[in-house]
Amino acid sequence: MLENIPSKIKIVEVGPRDGLQNEKKILTTDQKFQFIMGLIDSGITSIEVSSFVRAPKIPQLVDAPELFKMLNEAKIDRRKIKFSALVPNLKGLEVAKGANVDEIAVFTATSDEFNKKNINASVDESLGRILPVCKEAINCGIKVRGYISTAFGCPYGGDSSTETLLKLCDQLVKIGVSEISVGDTIGMASPLIVKKHIRNLKKHFDLKTIAMHFHDTNNMALVNVMAALDEGITIFDSSAGGLGGCPYAKGASGNVATEQLVFFFEQIGIKTGVNLTKLKIVAESVKSILSA
Ligand code: MG
Repeated sequence: MLENIPSKIKIVEVGPRDGLQNEKKILTTDQKFQFIMGLIDSGITSIEVSSFVRAPKIPQLVDAPELFKMLNEAKIDRRKIKFSALVPNLKGLEVAKGANVDEIAVFTATSDEFNKKNINASVDESLGRILPVCKEAINCGIKVRGYISTAFGCPYGGDSSTETLLKLCDQLVKIGVSEISVGDTIGMASPLIVKKHIRNLKKHFDLKTIAMHFHDTNNMALVNVMAALDEGITIFDSSAGGLGGCPYAKGASGNVATEQLVFFFEQIGIKTGVNLTKLKIVAESVKSILSA
């Protein structure tokens, strides 16, 4: 393993959205702003900032417009730093446009069971909802990232086969999604399934458009990252401090921690451009606010 170490990788920091959304305690808008500015100062360049969902649905992220306003007023080099937000519908997209996002993210899963519980829609219905959002975003010059949950296992027993994943990736690409994040929602992935999925994906897609979103629920995230690197993946999602927990397994880890990912990459000779000392301070500070 590790015969194909890339010279460059991209880390997508999902802590402020995917992380904070799954934490009980709600940060103030200023605390979120400081968190994001700290991430930028440590060298992180792609950040999923928040979500433009209906207010009562995710109380942790209702301040997305205010947070973006603060970020837009701050001195940030937006040629280098890219901000994204999760957008479920056209209404959310309108607000996202006003917030000057570089990219939006849309959401589906391989499993009908998971999608129904999560967004009350089958996989096909979710694609029907995503389609107009994608069209309009692309018309406005905003890139679209597509999340695929349950690609390595579903908490409700739904489909996570390679065939279903391939079909879904194909459908997302056809409606204009330019980067697909393949998610291990409950931390079920292992190197063999990771390699199997990616070997099939790369027969059909440019791997530069595929990201891996691993969860560390069963302490397998870095082993899976290694397997994915070996198959040619160069985009990885992570969350500073491993924020987010696992909503399906109380007390277990969710998103792989960005500082672990950075440490691992640097140890095997991949430059990340991230200052690990600074990143650890940011992660510790947000964790201490959440546990206070
Ligand atoms: Mg996640």
